[in-house]
Formats: sequence, structure tokens, C-alpha cells
Amino acid sequence: MKRLVPFLLIISFVLSMLTGCVKQPPLEPVYVVQPKSLSVVDFAVDDVFAVVSRFYTYGIHFNVEGTLDVTNYFTADALPDTKFELSLKYNDKEEDEILLPLLVDKTDTENVIKFTSAEYINEGINLDELLKKNYIATIKATGVSAVYYFTFAPSDEEAPGCQPIEYYTITKKKKNNRINIGFGTCDGKAEGSKVSFLAVNVEGVKTLPEDVYDVVIDPGHGGRDPGAMSNDGSIDERKLNLQNAMFIKEKLEGAGLKVYITRTSAEKTEEDTVHNVYDDDGKITKAMETKAKIYLAIHMNSSGRANSYSGFEIYVAPRDSLGLARSFSKEIKTATGRNASTLDQFKVEDGIYSRGFLSKDYDELAHTAKQGGFKMYENVTENTPYYYFIREVGGSITGAYTDGRNTLYSANKYRNSNQGIESYLFELSYINNDDDLQFVLMNGEMFATGITNGLIKYLYPEAKK
Ligand SMILES: [Zn+2]
Repeated sequence: MKRLVPFLLIISFVLSMLTGCVKQPPLEPVYVVQPKSLSVVDFAVDDVFAVVSRFYTYGIHFNVEGTLDVTNYFTADALPDTKFELSLKYNDKEEDEILLPLLVDKTDTENVIKFTSAEYINEGINLDELLKKNYIATIKATGVSAVYYFTFAPSDEEAPGCQPIEYYTITKKKKNNRINIGFGTCDGKAEGSKVSFLAVNVEGVKTLPEDVYDVVIDPGHGGRDPGAMSNDGSIDERKLNLQNAMFIKEKLEGAGLKVYITRTSAEKTEEDTVHNVYDDDGKITKAMETKAKIYLAIHMNSSGRANSYSGFEIYVAPRDSLGLARSFSKEIKTATGRNASTLDQFKVEDGIYSRGFLSKDYDELAHTAKQGGFKMYENVTENTPYYYFIREVGGSITGAYTDGRNTLYSANKYRNSNQGIESYLFELSYINNDDDLQFVLMNGEMFATGITNGLIKYLYPEAKK
């Protein structure tokens, strides 16, 4: 029998009776509203908030991570039998509560648990499925004989992971919601006490703001960077990627999505698109400004030897679940009749590849740092995406690190953002495989159909029926 500490100091209160509740936005432009209809919830108060180190959105999902001191609630013995969940409520009806199991690390300190709601960065609370309500996020702890709710407080109001987020849902039947996520405070029941909470406020909007998009397509390379070349030297990625990207843009728009494309020219301009991507008008900066949910980088692969490899590859972030990638892989096969790549390196499963930093990549980066006379990046791990198209648009969630210390690049000002774009890098085929190239030149539209169907079936699962 697991025991609950008997001298519990839980204060239940009726939120709707709190007259002192204030709308207190921590930072513009997010405003935080407490759900009006949330009438009775047991919240733990005073010094027992769950402390949030970071909340974030990545793609269409929301997650939160931090610590919780359960000293006055559960003994160490009781912890293994206690269930911790992320709860989203807009009223006190059980059937309306959204619950997500938390992954909990109980080993750190006896009664301080570390929690995260994300096993995979692209799973969690699906923001596009929330109703137009004002939710409060809490931790629901279900012990053997009692249930407690712990509200969230920021570990540090200045921390990048605690900054308010303005999120727009993916366009669905020409409709969008705006979701503001951020901390607020209410006066507590006890004289002078404060209750901190994390709000997720959802409201409908007529249309997306002009500068907000659903999807970003990046035709790889461009400007002075031609990318890889065909065997006969007649076509390069700069041109072919743009052509294929335009097909995808057209089809996604046909499906009702708002699409931003990072370049529309295949001219050999002076623009160097590898090194200026973090400038104010560079690809990464522009992409991040769109608040898009999905980023599709379109490329052609090339192998060391002509005609040695063939087929398509889809690169994902190392901490992604493969739901969307599988949907892309399946639909590309169906639409084109082409096989996934024959490449084995970095392969996770058919057509799906994941490349984090290998030790040789890390050594190379360390070497570059030494040569360039700058300090090695601190947070690079095997889970850091190797390709910058995937890493840098994910903000802190994927471990974006470009901060200007390497003077070849300016700083990615969104590197610490807690609002990341879920990114996929497509190598549609091998440009130095004659058969692959011939097929892509004739049938670029088929790849666009496959990618569009893959995304649509993932984003609108109800349409599958
Ligand atoms: Zn390329």
C-alpha cells in the first residue's frame, strides 16, 4: 500500500469566485485569459507550482518540460504508483479534459521529478484539434487515493523557453484559429498569495495575417550556389529544384494551404544563398517570420560516382516520430511508382533518413572552430540535425546554434525560439543518375502530387475516411 503524506496542504478554491484575477500578460503580444467556465479545480498553490524550463510548439504540436517538487504530496515510495499527466481544461467537466501522459524522471532528487510531455518533438498536444476555448495547462497527478492539479510557473520569465507564443492553426476549410500561449497570474485565496498559470487561449480568426503562412517550401540552392549537376552538365539543382518546388506550391495551394516559397528565381545572381540564409532577408529568417508549421526543403541528391544510386530520400530530425515522413514516403511511391533510395547510410526505414551529428561531423565542426578562432558550439549532440534546413528552423527544439561566432554566417536570430517549424528535406532522386533525372524532368508533377497527398492525409486525417 502506497501512502500519501497525510498532512497535505492543498487549498481548493473556486476560480470563478476569485475576484482578484487579473489578465497579466508577461510580454506583448500575447494576452492571457483565464477560462471563465473553469469553476472548480483543485490547484496546488504557493511554492508548489510545476516549474517550466520550456514550453514550445513544433509543427502543429505543443509540449512542456520542467520540474515539480512533490515533497508535500507524495512520498518517494508512492511515486512509482503515481500517474503524471499534462492536462488542458477549459471547464471542470471530466469529458472535456485533454490529457497527455508525461514522461517523468524520478531519479534526480528524491521528491523533485523532471518531466517532459514529448517523447518525440513532433508529437504532443495537437494544437489544430483544440476547440475555441481558453484552456489552462496543469499537471494532473493521480495517486492511489487522491488527485492533484499543479499549475505552471516560469523558471525564469526571461528564459527563451518561457516566452509567449502566437500560433496560427493550419488552414482548414479556409478557417484558422489563433492560439496564444503564455503565463499569467491570479491572486490566490490566501491573503497576498499569487497563483501562476499557463494559458492556452484559442480563438477563431477571419483570415491569416498577410505575413503568416501554413507551409514554407525551400527550393534548395540558388543565386551563386548551383547545387549538384547532371552527368551531361545540362541542368543543376538551382534550376530543377525551383521547377519541382513550384509544382508542389501549386498543388498545396490547390488543396487550400497558404504557401511561402523562399526563392522564385533560378538566376545566377551574386546572392550567395549558403552564407546569407541568416541575414534579415535570408531564407531561414524569412521562413521563421512566416510562423509556418511545416518546412519542405526540395533537393536532388548526387553520389560520388555517376549512376551508382537511385531513388528518393526524406530526411527528418533525429527526435521526430515518423508519422508524417511515412505518409510522404507512401504517397510519393504511389504517385510516382518510383522506389525509395538504394542508399543505406542514415536510413531509418524505406525512404526515411535521419542524420544527426556523427562523431566525424562533430570533429569537423571542432576543426572549423579551431581554424576560425571561435569557441566550439556547446550543445551539439547526436540528436542535433546535421542539415541546417532542418536544424535552424526548429529553434531551440531542434538545437539551432548558428549565432554568428563563425563569421562566415550571420546569427540566426530565431535560434532560441520556442516556436519551431517542423522540417523535412527531400532528395527527390539522384541528379547524377541518368534514369532518375530523365524521370524527374518528365514527371516533376508526380512528386508534387505525392508530397501534397502525404501532407494532406497527415494534417487532415478525417479526410481519409
Ligand atoms: Zn541540394
